[in-house]
Amino acid sequence: MQEREISIVVPCYNEAPALPHLYTELTALKQKLPGVSFEFVLVDDGSTDGTRDVIRDLSQNDADVRYVFFSRNFGKEAALLAGLEAARGKYVAVMDADLQDPPSLLPEMYSVVKSGDYDCAATRRVSRKGEPLIRSFFARSFYRLMSKISDAHIVDGVRDYRLMSRRMVDAILSLKEYNRFSKGIFSWVGFETRWFEYQNIERVAGETKWSFWKLFLYSLEGITAFSTAPLIFASVMGMLFCLIAFITICVVVVKTLLWGDPVAGYPSLLSIILFIGGVQLFAVGILGQYLAKTYLETKKRPVYIIKEQSK
Ligand code: UDP
Ligand code: MG
Repeated sequence: MQEREISIVVPCYNEAPALPHLYTELTALKQKLPGVSFEFVLVDDGSTDGTRDVIRDLSQNDADVRYVFFSRNFGKEAALLAGLEAARGKYVAVMDADLQDPPSLLPEMYSVVKSGDYDCAATRRVSRKGEPLIRSFFARSFYRLMSKISDAHIVDGVRDYRLMSRRMVDAILSLKEYNRFSKGIFSWVGFETRWFEYQNIERVAGETKWSFWKLFLYSLEGITAFSTAPLIFASVMGMLFCLIAFITICVVVVKTLLWGDPVAGYPSLLSIILFIGGVQLFAVGILGQYLAKTYLETKKRPVYIIKEQSK
């Protein structure tokens, strides 16, 4: 297949109801940008609802549709990576399958990146309408925390939806890490980014694949992948407790020498032991997180396994 101008990478996991809507929008996009060649790279992340059949149909009827099928569900990050690796366009866009990333923004994003002033046109949601309040609260706190403790600056409400130049995509692909946190990687590789903002849009069909718990784990993934602040936090806590212990010992010794030592304070002793025990477990847990990540990195397993791929 000859080189296309724009590749659009779409990770799909159980998106059979949403895909026809997506495809309609994408073909409309082609009309809006006449003369620009497109390829749509649909990555099926081990769906169980017939998504693959829908994709195969689309690809049979439209030479611009290419696909990659995974052997099982590897997660959105893996699907994104596979899509970026398969994409051959001069510009590559990444977009969700559920139309929460408005394709109508794409022509403007394209003209901004094509002008050469920017390597990336990225998007962020400025509202979280239709999302549970508690989820919005935790999401906001996560972005605030991340921007404080990591060297990858992550903007609040940032989406994966973006259009990138070939050199930025190549930079992203040169990061070979196994634990991939794309929002961090996009920011870490640098390059001039122009931001587009939009109000939250609810998904067109199907339902979200992200439970609160999955999002929570994802946020931990982001923190451990782009910051070692938790390790510093654990060390500082350790030092603080040593200091407190030292002062307490001094106080106890002086008190005993001056006034004798009636046995007392059993409950307070118990609670202090419990508290410090808890802090120690917490710190060991943090250490364990990093160790586990290192373990997975050193195994050098592939991020995904392809079952089938279009030409
Ligand atoms: N997705 C995926 N693998 C997964 C989970 C999600 O490829 O394990 C895709 C999904 O098909 C969609 C995108 O990632 O295109 C975003 O997922 P979703 O819309 O469920 O997330 P939300 O927008 O609710 O955060
Ligand atoms: Mg969505």
